[in-house]
Amino acid sequence: MTNDNVTQHQAQEPETVTYAKLGSPMAIVDGVSFSGGDEWTNYGGNLTVQTERVFYPKTLEDLKVIVREAHNDNKKVRCVGSGHSWSATAVTPDYMVSVNGMDKIHKPVRDASGWTVTLETGVLVSQLDAFLRAHNPPLAVSSMVLPDVVRFGGILTMGCHGAGLNSRTLSDTITEMTIVNARGELVTYSAAKDPEAFNVACLNLGLLGIIYTATIKVEEMNTRLRVTDSYPTLTSLFQGPQAGLNLKARLLKNDSTEFFYWPFERFMQPDQNKNIWVKEWERTTEPAEDLKKYEGLPPMIDNPFFSTFQTGSRVMEVPDALHFPFGDGVTTVLDVGCAIKVDSDFGNICEAITEVVEKNWEFTTSMPERMGTAIEFRFIKASDKILSPAYDKDPDTIFCMINVMAASGTPGFEEYSVGIAANWIHKYNAKPHWPKMWEKVDGIVSYLRREYGDRITRFNRVRKSQDPTDMFVNDTWRPIFQENEL
Ligand SMILES: Cc1cc2nc3c(=O)[nH]c(=O)nc-3n(C[C@H](O)[C@H](O)[C@H](O)COP(=O)(O)OP(=O)(O)OC[C@H]3O[C@@H](n4cnc5c(N)ncnc54)[C@H](O)[C@@H]3O)c2cc1C
Repeated sequence: MTNDNVTQHQAQEPETVTYAKLGSPMAIVDGVSFSGGDEWTNYGGNLTVQTERVFYPKTLEDLKVIVREAHNDNKKVRCVGSGHSWSATAVTPDYMVSVNGMDKIHKPVRDASGWTVTLETGVLVSQLDAFLRAHNPPLAVSSMVLPDVVRFGGILTMGCHGAGLNSRTLSDTITEMTIVNARGELVTYSAAKDPEAFNVACLNLGLLGIIYTATIKVEEMNTRLRVTDSYPTLTSLFQGPQAGLNLKARLLKNDSTEFFYWPFERFMQPDQNKNIWVKEWERTTEPAEDLKKYEGLPPMIDNPFFSTFQTGSRVMEVPDALHFPFGDGVTTVLDVGCAIKVDSDFGNICEAITEVVEKNWEFTTSMPERMGTAIEFRFIKASDKILSPAYDKDPDTIFCMINVMAASGTPGFEEYSVGIAANWIHKYNAKPHWPKMWEKVDGIVSYLRREYGDRITRFNRVRKSQDPTDMFVNDTWRPIFQENEL
C-alpha cells in the first residue's frame, strides 16, 4: 500500500471526554517513546494498575520494537485504547501499549462485494465517522457501539456491537486483519487464507499480539435513519400472553431498537418508574433534518442521567443517529452485561426484563447513594466468531445484549450486578460480554471453560502458534485459556 492511500486523520480528540488516565512519554527506546511507573486507571474508575512501562507507538516498526523489548525483558504486553472496558482485559503491571497514536485511515476501496476501509487500531469511532462522511460517496458503518470515543482496536478485539437486527457484532464486519505476533512478525489474517485463524483473529481479546490494522466493511450512506423515541409502559411491552410475540414483531420491523430504563419516575422521589425509553431506528430516503432546532429543549424527564430524552421522531445521518448523548455526563458508569439467546416467542426476554426491573428497584431504593442506576438492552443477530458471547451456528438466532448500570462509586453495585449476571447465567445460559464486569461472578471461569469448551481448544491452537510463551496473556485471560484439561 502506498502513502497516497493513507490519510493521517487530523480530527481533534474531544476535550470533554473521560478517557482512561495514561502517563506522559518520558524516554525513548529505538524511536518508541514510553513512560515508566505510571498509575493507569480505566474510564469507569474500577481498575487501577501501576505499570512498569506504557509505550506510545506510532508505526509498525514501533510495534515490533515493543515486542522485541518485551521478549528480551521477559515481560507481558497488553494494549489499551480509550480504556473503556470494565473487565481487566487491558491490564498488566508489565508493558502496556497505548495504541492511540496509531490512527491512520486508508482510502476506502470498492470491489464486487462492496466497500471496505482499512484502519489502524487507535482510530476513534468519531474519527472514522468523520472520515467516511467526507468521502465521495459518503460512507458509514451501519451498526455501531453507542460511544464514539472508543477505538477500533478495543471494539473489534472484544466483539462489541450496536443495536441492529440487520447486523451482528463489529468483529463480523472484518474482512482482513494484520497482527504483530510474539515473534515480532506481521501476520495477515483473511477468510481466503485460513478461515479458522481468521475467525479467531476477528475476536481475539488481544491474545494473538498487537493488532496493526483491520479492514472492515462499510456501506454507502444513501439512506438516513428515522429515529423515534417513545416512553410506553413496561406493562404494555412485557406483560400478557402476547407480549413476547408483539415485542418480536416490533423489533423485526425496525432496523435497530434500544431500551433504557431508570427506576425513579422523578429523580429521588419515591414513585417507581412504570415507563421505559424505547429508541427505534428505521432506514429512510428522506433528507436529514437540521438538528440545531432540537438543541436546548427543556428536559422531558427529571433525571440528570437521561436528561437528553425527548419523545418524537426525526431523520438523521447514520452516525448522528447511532451516537447520542443520554445524560449530562455527570458521572462515569459501571456496567455488567450479558448476551441472552432469545426464545422464538421472546418469552424469556419478557421474563428477564420484568425480573431485573424489580431487582433494580430493590437495590436502588435500599440506600440514597444508589439512586443512579439503569437497565439497557438491545438485540443483534448471532455471530459466527467462536469467542463471541452471541455465537450461534444459526445466523438467524437473535441475542438480547442486556446491561445493568450504575454511576461509578455506587456502593454495593458489584455484589448486586454480579448477582444479576449469575441469575442470567443460571436461568438463560447467558454469556458475559467480554469488556463488562464479569470477572467477579461466582464460578465464572469453570462456567466459561465448560460452555466455550471445544471453541477454547480451537482458539488456543491458533493463539499458541502466534504466542507460544503467553506474552499477551494477563490475569484476566490466563484462567480461561490455560491449556490443562477442559
Ligand atoms: C459509556 C460506555 C458505553 C459503551 N457502549 C458500548 C456499546 O454500545 N456496545 C458495546 O459492545 N460495548 C460498549 N461499551 C464497551 C466498549 O465498547 C468496550 O469496552 C471497548 O473495548 C472499548 O474500546 P476502548 O478503545 O476503550 O478499548 P480498551 O478498553 O482500551 O481495550 C479493550 C481491549 O482491546 C485490546 N486492544 C486494543 N487495541 C488493541 C490492539 N491494537 N491490539 C491488541 N489488542 C488491543 C486491549 O488490550 C483490551 O483488551 C461501552 C463502554 C462504555 C464505557
